[in-house]
Amino acid sequence: MDSSNDKNIETVAKLLKTSQKVLFITGAGISADSGLPTYRGTGGLYADNSTEDGVSIENALSASMFASKPEITWKYLLQIARACIDAQPNAAHLAIAEFLRCHTSSYVLTQNIDGLHGQCPESQLIEIHGNAFNFYCVSCAKSVEADSRTFLQSISTTPSCQYCGGLVRPSVVLFEEALPGAALQRLSNVLQAEPDLVVSIGTSALFPYIIEPVYRAKASGIATVEINPDTTEISSQFDYRIALGAAQAMQVLL
Ligand code: NAD
Ligand code: ZN
Repeated sequence: MDSSNDKNIETVAKLLKTSQKVLFITGAGISADSGLPTYRGTGGLYADNSTEDGVSIENALSASMFASKPEITWKYLLQIARACIDAQPNAAHLAIAEFLRCHTSSYVLTQNIDGLHGQCPESQLIEIHGNAFNFYCVSCAKSVEADSRTFLQSISTTPSCQYCGGLVRPSVVLFEEALPGAALQRLSNVLQAEPDLVVSIGTSALFPYIIEPVYRAKASGIATVEINPDTTEISSQFDYRIALGAAQAMQVLL
């Protein structure tokens, strides 16, 4: 750990002690410490962006592919869900959940669909890309009630609804789809209430709704922190950077 990391850890630990309205923004990197592959970058699931079906992963996981060839989309959804199902929350997920329980005006905005923030109070969790373990029918909208592990194990190509035979899907946001309205509304309320600290953990921060809270905080003079062993395209925008893995950093900080 270099000295600037040490100094930043000390400052950020103090900020976390005195802040009530913290917005944690998390990405695949926070779950890397639970053994889940990230999306991009070294060791990422789709680092070279192609699939064995000859289409990009964005195409395979898109609304138009799901409409025309749902078996292709399901193939990759299953790969992702099966990679996540046995993972356990790590020290970073648990530290954030504990922090949120003690600070009811703090929130976590996650891009992850792995459900590993499940110990956070539900009203303080914004799963902006949905959750890979909730399933519903696209025809009758009924939810699948079976245990998600049993349900995932039962799928060979595409699952159908037990009530109407319609196509079942997980409540994740596919490429080309709009973000869930309720999650967007909650995010908008959180930003309007002005967080007093924004902490970004393990995201390459490529989506506008992930970058915006950071820029808004910066414009209002609110402290911003990035926790990521590597730099990202927006690293230079943060007031403090901690170049450690999520679990180690959060254990030291909280
Ligand atoms: P990303 O893969 O683009 O970026 C991951 C970031 O995490 C990188 O900047 C990397 O340097 C950093 N990182 C790697 N190991 C880390 C560690 N131990 N601690 C902290 N940071 C670490 O991920 P993204 O920004 O979340 O965007 C990817 C998209 O893919 C999102 O839409 C997300 O929904 C989806 N996705 C989700 C999961 C999941 O649910 N676990 C996994 C992969 C991808
Ligand atoms: Zn149905």
